[in-house]
Amino acid sequence: MARPVVAQQSRWHYLVWFIFAPIPINSLAAAIDIKALTSQCCVILPDYLSRRSKFFIYSVALLTHVNVFTWLGLCVATALSYAIDLQHPQPMVSHFVYLLRLAHCIMIARTGVRWWVARDIRKRGLGLSGAAGVEYHTDLIMWSSFMIGGIVKGMIWLKKDDLWKEMAMGPLTTGQVDLVQTLVSAFINGWIADVILRFLWLCLSPGIEADFKSSLQYRLVAALPTIASMEQCSICLSEGAESEEGGEACEMPCSHCCHRACLVSWARACRQESSFSCPLCRERISFRIDDFGHTLVAPIS
Ligand SMILES: [Zn+2]
Ligand SMILES: [Zn+2]
Repeated sequence: MARPVVAQQSRWHYLVWFIFAPIPINSLAAAIDIKALTSQCCVILPDYLSRRSKFFIYSVALLTHVNVFTWLGLCVATALSYAIDLQHPQPMVSHFVYLLRLAHCIMIARTGVRWWVARDIRKRGLGLSGAAGVEYHTDLIMWSSFMIGGIVKGMIWLKKDDLWKEMAMGPLTTGQVDLVQTLVSAFINGWIADVILRFLWLCLSPGIEADFKSSLQYRLVAALPTIASMEQCSICLSEGAESEEGGEACEMPCSHCCHRACLVSWARACRQESSFSCPLCRERISFRIDDFGHTLVAPIS
């Protein structure tokens, strides 16, 4: 990328790249509940995940922690450009500040929508099927389009020599103008990586789902007997044996009852594959596989 005005870019370049290049992917991770998973067991992930899934989740969890810095970079760039615009108004600089403010609006709107979508998907359970899947994919397409538009626009502006000349005529030093340029380009690169990673997540999520579906926990929950009536689910606390989100009710060997889908979410967060405990009485529920490969719930010893 051409940097015609400013000569000292390298001073900031490495520092800024080190801090700001990572990716705002936090809310996507939350959307498939990986955030809940990683916050519960930040060092050790559930046994049922394959090594490939674990590696990817660890990488994303790491990036999630530095996510906030990408936005912080945009804030610093906006503040500095705004200072130039206030003291030394130039048409291009003003337009540039306007674009930066637009980027803030996209980030705020996206955070809000993501938070809502992630909460809703969590409420419905983990699978991205049905309504949750539609929400998730709409969210993915909508923000990816906005961000790709922003990336293209930002790249065009970074190449405008006149803008950086106008900036350098203002009250800030050339080093500070260069910082603005570097922060904005780091932010744009962060968005590019964000879009790419989101599609990678899309490829990975069926794998995580498959890991869980073949786990013993999942098979145990599936093997628990269905019951026709239940006063209250011990997990979601809703009343009645059937619920829209929790599905049918099932009974654990300790004779506590809950919705099967609620228990699936509970079992998913359990780290050990051989057993999990009742959410109410903490009684350990274990199981064995018989000679024919059937999952049998082991009686409490
Ligand atoms: Zn429930
Ligand atoms: Zn129990």
